Parts: sequence; C-alpha cells; structure tokens
Amino acid sequence: MTSATALRIEQPAAVAAAGPDYVVVDRISKVYNEGTRQQVEAVAPTTFTVKAGEFVALLGPSGCGKSTLLMMVAGLDTPSRGTIAVAGHPLAAPRAETGIMFQDPTLLPWKSALDNVLFPFQAADRGTGPKDAATVARAAGLLDRVGLKGFHHHKPRQLSGGMRQRVAICRALVYEPDLLLMDEPFSALDAITRDEMNLVLMKMWEEHHRTALFVTHSIREAVYLADRVLVMSSRPGRIIEDVRIPFARPRGLEIGETVAFNEICGHLRGKIQHVPH
Ligand code: ADP
Ligand code: MG
Repeated sequence: MTSATALRIEQPAAVAAAGPDYVVVDRISKVYNEGTRQQVEAVAPTTFTVKAGEFVALLGPSGCGKSTLLMMVAGLDTPSRGTIAVAGHPLAAPRAETGIMFQDPTLLPWKSALDNVLFPFQAADRGTGPKDAATVARAAGLLDRVGLKGFHHHKPRQLSGGMRQRVAICRALVYEPDLLLMDEPFSALDAITRDEMNLVLMKMWEEHHRTALFVTHSIREAVYLADRVLVMSSRPGRIIEDVRIPFARPRGLEIGETVAFNEICGHLRGKIQHVPH
C-alpha cells in the first residue's frame, strides 16, 4: 500500500454541511473563581450548533473567551452553566474522537516528526498496538500530504515553525477524529507561512472531511477557512453574529483578492468594532 492510499479520501465538505447538528452548545457560560474577589465572567450565556462536516470559525478580539469556549467543547474545562452535546451525547469528559491543535505545536523535542505524529497511539493504545504497519503508513502518508516528504525522521528543532505546525496537523488527524478543534494554531507564524498553513489545512480538511471549530482573531483567516463565522463580543464573550461564507471549495488563496471576500471581511470588522455591551 502506498502512503497516499492509506488516507481516506471522502466526499467534498460542501455536501455534508447540511448534515445533522454535531456539536450543540446550549446556553453555556463560564465564570472563573465564581463567588470570590477574583471572579471573572469569561463567557456569557452562549448557544450555537455546528453541523456534521461543517467548518466553523469562532472570531473575536483577544481575551473575549474564545479559548475558554473551545476548551469547554473539548471537555477540558467545564461550563459554569449550560450543556454541550457532541455526536448526540452529553459531553462529560474529553473524547478520544476529538483532535485538538493549539498555537504551540507542543511536539516532543526528542522524537522525530513521524514519532510525534504517532504519539497519540503511544499515549492511549487503542488495542491496535502503538505502531502497527497500517498506523505507521497512515502517519507517513499524512506527513507526505502536508509537504513533509523527506522530513519524517527530522527532530522538531530541525524543522521550521510552519513545518512543526504541519506535524501538529498530522498528529491531530492521525487518530481519525470526528471533530477537530483548533485554537489559533497559526497565529505565531509569519504572514506568508500562515497563508501556506491555511492552504495545507484546507486541503487536509477537504480530504478528511471532519467537523471543525477553529478559533482565530484574524478576520481574513476566518473568512478564508470557514463555512460559517461566529463573531464573539469582547469579554464576557457571546455570539453576536453568525455569517455564512458562500465561497465554493476547494478555495485558493486568490479568493482573498475578490470584492465579495473583502466585503464580508468589512462587514465582520464592523461587527467587531461596534459591539454593544
Ligand atoms: P481568548 O482566548 O479569547 O483570548 P480566554 O478564553 O483565554 O480569551 O480568556 C477569557 C478571559 O478569561 C480573560 O479575561 C482571561 O484572563 C480569563 N481567564 C482565562 N482562563 C482563566 C483562569 N483559568 N482563571 C481565571 N481567569 C481566566
Ligand atoms: Mg485564546
């Protein structure tokens, strides 16, 4: 089996964007240190859904509660009020089927790119054995698809920042998650590398067809990547706008030059700048 055939190539995302609700966030809020003098209301009561196969961007200013919201959807933090359901089940703990990416790729420095991608299997052996041939082939195939052919055995320090985030994308996908959560994964990268990473992520998402929730404070990144953009107010964050992005897929970076793209960006910018409190 070649590495390319180890990947599952599935239907284009636009088809399933009309699927059932996959993530259901129902009036969740988060108050840190509730009842103490350090109390911080991070997320105001918030309700939204993400449909199966949909790519939703959560866009808002720094400090508005985006990471808090995402961590609650990941099951890594608990809401103060409200409920979350994923894939039809109430969320009570982190799910093995949720893949997560952060701003820092958090690679293990002593492991190769390939071993970093395989790490989720070593951390939680699903009974398939941590390094069976099919899993290794899938990991290697993912690295090839993100442009890291020839770098499988490089250590993180031998890779650029963009390459490290490519490894992190592969690690998030290797477990074949049904839900991909990303918290500003490219915001530490320079603008050119960030554009490249957006292209890589789009390609991988179109091939693997996961439900995705992507946090960003970049308006252009949100509009380029997403089927829908949810705009959050400043803290305590709540959703003030839900904008459908009409562009067909696959999308090239050149859509960023079109009038329609820039009109949507202008609209979103206006929403973020004129938030009633
Ligand atoms: P964003 O990701 O949009 O920048 P965060 O969700 O990280 O925002 O933070 C929202 C607010 O909650 C901020 O005011 C932050 O200081 C506060 N906050 C985040 N985590 C904690 C915590 N563990 N304890 C207390 N306050 C927190
Ligand atoms: Mg954050």
